[in-house]
Amino acid sequence: MAKFIEPFEVTFNKVYDMYIRKELSFLGVNIGRYTLWLPVEFEKDKPRIQFYNNVDEIQFNNVDEDFSQLMTYISIWGTPVLQFLSEIVSFIRKEQGELNKYNAIDHSICKKCGGICCKNSGCYYSTRDFKEISFENLTMHLLKGYTSIVGIEKELSGYDNSLVLKVRNVNQSIVDIDTPTSSQCILLGESGCQLGDSERPYGGRALIPQAKHSCITGYTFREIVAEWRPYQGLLFQLAKYFMNKEIPFNGL
Ligand code: SF4
Ligand code: SF4
Repeated sequence: MAKFIEPFEVTFNKVYDMYIRKELSFLGVNIGRYTLWLPVEFEKDKPRIQFYNNVDEIQFNNVDEDFSQLMTYISIWGTPVLQFLSEIVSFIRKEQGELNKYNAIDHSICKKCGGICCKNSGCYYSTRDFKEISFENLTMHLLKGYTSIVGIEKELSGYDNSLVLKVRNVNQSIVDIDTPTSSQCILLGESGCQLGDSERPYGGRALIPQAKHSCITGYTFREIVAEWRPYQGLLFQLAKYFMNKEIPFNGL
């Protein structure tokens, strides 16, 4: 089995650079409802991104010892870091064109799931979701009450701390400079998303549903910030304007 890497402080730049410099590869495995991605030592002639549908597919040298080692590393890395690592793996897979084989938006899968992602957070807007990016136009949009200006810390994107737009979470203010905590999207209704498929922000349209395991992020923090970087001055102006303003959401 591949050799696991001892945990270190994970940032986008550090992990991505280590991948490019061939200092690490990734081993992904479905365990229960989750797909977990662990950093492993680079080995010549081995795939850089190895994925196993379940633990039984991994070629263990010693089943008991190796399985216990796998579970130990999952535990010491911890869920939040492993979730972030899966985001970095998605970025790399997308760069390599490897996500093209998947279909985004699949109502049959999402219906059974009941919207776990939407119960966790509103999805992120791309700049391409707006016909015009101006103070007036984004002000009109923010006054509808279902969008927030939020911060993404530099560790997550590899760029500076940045402001971006996402669909507002329940009880979230219009300006939420800290990287948002989990809570339900304000547009999740009893029968799912209140927006039609094509009206959803790109982050929602790009998410790749998986029937039994973690869905695949199709729009990562790295890409979100890369798109919104040229508009930081404008988003800062909007954040100042909307800071501490109560904007109710009264439906679409
Ligand atoms: S994208 Fe995934 S988590 Fe979100 S509703 Fe569909 S199946 Fe559930
Ligand atoms: S906007 Fe729709 S798809 Fe996006 S998180 Fe909210 S409910 Fe889900």
